[in-house]
Amino acid sequence: MLPPSSRLKRASKSHWKALLEILPTSSHQVRTTHQECSKKQKNDDTQSTSADASSSNDGSEEKNEFDTLANAKILLSDCLACDSCMTLEEGARVFQQNQKEFFRILNLNKKCDTSKHKVLAVSLCPQSLPYFAAKFNFSVNEAAKRLCGFLKSLGVHYVFDTTIAADFSILESQREFVQRYQRRNQEEHALPMFASACPGWIRYAERVLTNLVTSHICTAKSPQQIMGSLVKGYFARQQNLSPDKIFHVVVAPCYDKKLEALREDFYTALYNSPEVDCVLTSGEIVQIMEQKNVSMKDVTEVAIDTLFDDLKEGDVVRHDGKRSDGYLEHIFKHAAKELFGVDVKEITYRALKNKDFQEVTLEKDGETVLRFAAAYGFRNIQNMVLKLKKGKFLYHFVEVLACPGGCLNGKGQAQTEDGKPDRALLAQMEEVYTAIPVRLPETNLQVQRMYQDWLEGMDSKKVQDTLHTTYSAVSQSTSSLDIKW
Ligand code: SF4
Repeated sequence: MLPPSSRLKRASKSHWKALLEILPTSSHQVRTTHQECSKKQKNDDTQSTSADASSSNDGSEEKNEFDTLANAKILLSDCLACDSCMTLEEGARVFQQNQKEFFRILNLNKKCDTSKHKVLAVSLCPQSLPYFAAKFNFSVNEAAKRLCGFLKSLGVHYVFDTTIAADFSILESQREFVQRYQRRNQEEHALPMFASACPGWIRYAERVLTNLVTSHICTAKSPQQIMGSLVKGYFARQQNLSPDKIFHVVVAPCYDKKLEALREDFYTALYNSPEVDCVLTSGEIVQIMEQKNVSMKDVTEVAIDTLFDDLKEGDVVRHDGKRSDGYLEHIFKHAAKELFGVDVKEITYRALKNKDFQEVTLEKDGETVLRFAAAYGFRNIQNMVLKLKKGKFLYHFVEVLACPGGCLNGKGQAQTEDGKPDRALLAQMEEVYTAIPVRLPETNLQVQRMYQDWLEGMDSKKVQDTLHTTYSAVSQSTSSLDIKW
């Protein structure tokens, strides 16, 4: 596989060159090169798009509309870094999140000047682990421990699993959904609720769809950013460290997470410290292994750390939901119980247009009382948005993910040399992922303890400040740069 950073370099060499030539000396002096959003133009101009043979339309209602949209051949990840909406400042800061920056910190820690030393913490996304397991032919537990061993051999102090942060994110999303459902008759924008964990979708919603959807987005932070709060907040306090003394790296399946780490609301101004300092994709970690000439087979297994003193993680666990963090399934079961007193054991999906657009319903007394959908990939998101615009929206909740197939198919892992998904590897990764045992977030005693001891109860202001954020329409009148990856 061509390392992702090489692809990035190849695809955007001229853009980065342009960036370096015109970068302002101060990050606030940004030259304006704004253009209209090209994706918005394409979306508005749906009549002019051509046919896409890969569409798996099943021929049900809105065929023409759906066909036309499916033909746009736009991926959200294209949208994320198209030629219009990334500012020079963002471009520069995303570019800094690379292996070089990681090694800069590792090297600083080797120097005599201890005032510049940082505690290096790396958090692993659960959707990255199946990639390492399938690629190197290990069980997911072995892969996690070998990855931990490798990172520690480089000089990383702590390696965490972000599943605990996803626990918080799911619990907060569940509660918010029930509250929104109860307010649905008084508050116009209470429903539908859209999931907030995918930064590709969030970027598109804020920059292109704007007010149509932003008030519908769940305010719970994504697992990545909650992990940032746990590491720079809870863990820093436990270790008696100020947040800026920790350099926090997240290993993630996509590049979109690099942009998410830059959001202003994920930054502690007091300490001049972002919750996440650097995101490296799984592919970039493999590239580091290749550069160091290290094989996963030769690395010693080391148990993953937890945020709690010397306690180590046990076996890897996951959430419900075969291709995502499981927001749809957890929220559905929770809402069925809380709102209608129904215990849902198994979720039955009904495929709509294709396998990436499915719905789940709950019937009670002959009436459909809950209607949820999973919409993955740009064409399904577009179809969903069209329905919303037309006022024909039947869903109470939609789990929206930018990548077709979900996060395992993130563009930072399992890609072939020509930048296409490696289908054989992806099939293995899905097998690995579904075999991981499920743990309900409600059963995590550490999470319950942190709600009481650190977050001052479930309904506290600290919960709002730490685990939630806001989404709003972003004007595209800022500067931009022609960047593609
Ligand atoms: S769906 Fe894709 S872009 Fe969104 S978080 Fe997952 S991997 Fe990243």
